[in-house]
Amino acid sequence: MSAINRREFVKKAALGAAAATAAACGSPQPGPGGPAASSGKKFEWSMVTTWPPHFPVIGESADKIATWVEEMSAGRLKIKVYGGGELVPPLEAFDNVRQGNVEMGHGTAYYWAGKVAAAQFFAAVPFGMNAQQMNAWLYGAGGLALWEEVYGAFGLVPMPVGNSGVQMGGWFNKKIETMEDLKGLKMRIPGLGGKVIAKAGGAAILSPGSEIYTNLERGVIDATEWVGPYHDFLMGFHKIAKYYYDPGWHEPGTVIEMFINKKAWDSLDVDLQHIVRAAAFRSNIWMLSEFEAKNNEYLQKLIKEHNVKVERFPDEVLAGLRKHTDEVLAEIVAEDPLSKKVYEHFNAFRQKVGQWADTSEKAYYQLIG
Ligand code: CA
Repeated sequence: MSAINRREFVKKAALGAAAATAAACGSPQPGPGGPAASSGKKFEWSMVTTWPPHFPVIGESADKIATWVEEMSAGRLKIKVYGGGELVPPLEAFDNVRQGNVEMGHGTAYYWAGKVAAAQFFAAVPFGMNAQQMNAWLYGAGGLALWEEVYGAFGLVPMPVGNSGVQMGGWFNKKIETMEDLKGLKMRIPGLGGKVIAKAGGAAILSPGSEIYTNLERGVIDATEWVGPYHDFLMGFHKIAKYYYDPGWHEPGTVIEMFINKKAWDSLDVDLQHIVRAAAFRSNIWMLSEFEAKNNEYLQKLIKEHNVKVERFPDEVLAGLRKHTDEVLAEIVAEDPLSKKVYEHFNAFRQKVGQWADTSEKAYYQLIG
């Protein structure tokens, strides 16, 4: 860079800094053809969650998002987080944000399958995509735009804020050796996985995290799935169940979501919208990393210190569950055009990303054994 060009560059940088200072002081700075920068207006929002208050990792994501947004916006957007039941019951979060009683919610999309069947494809599909592939679908292949369309009909803006990674198959007090063992089994299992268990002759029960331990202890349910070793250890299921099964066929990479009332979202300054999205991205990476970093440590702790018996579902059972999964998906798609549209998009991408995985991830795992 010549001396003259460098002087020009420094001068422009100084002008930019002056504009930024003016913006921080609340003066609108319309960019060339772009949206107005900060209006300086302050917002105080509430976020309800489907998790117990300050629930480790999953609920912490909501707390962290609130902290990050407040810090990044220098206090212009403050978010007060409510655990499930503190302001509204956990499974009423969707309706309360939709109705504008609160601005934001934090949960998992399959909790809303009873209101909008297509939602569950944005959480987890049995034998579907893993965390990396779900992120690729959402961010890189149009999945998020489709999700925005589905939630848009309810006046909501969705965004991913986390992922569990591959989950565990769940906690049982009897061995699962054949498909017969699933008949009559009362299992807490949400989403499409629950419909598959029902198809296999079991009873799938949807309950929020706060109720599972007591239900399993009292025999209201015979079995439960939750997340993976780290979080399941914190839930204490090893104290009341004998067998811990893998793999999590039903949730190979479950997306944790945040949803925002559309009118509230539209009222935010554009820079605040970017800040909220940046916090959502950060939370997505943070959560998956927490689980991946700690799962094995807790799996070993469960085995060595708590005598948990880790079992793998027999091939025959996994094949049976896969067959029922295909039936469940075919039924949902036949009944609901929106689910058909979302599932076809999901499935087309799954096939493509699966082809790439044959050459990349699968080949690599075989290489390292
Ligand atoms: Ca789960």
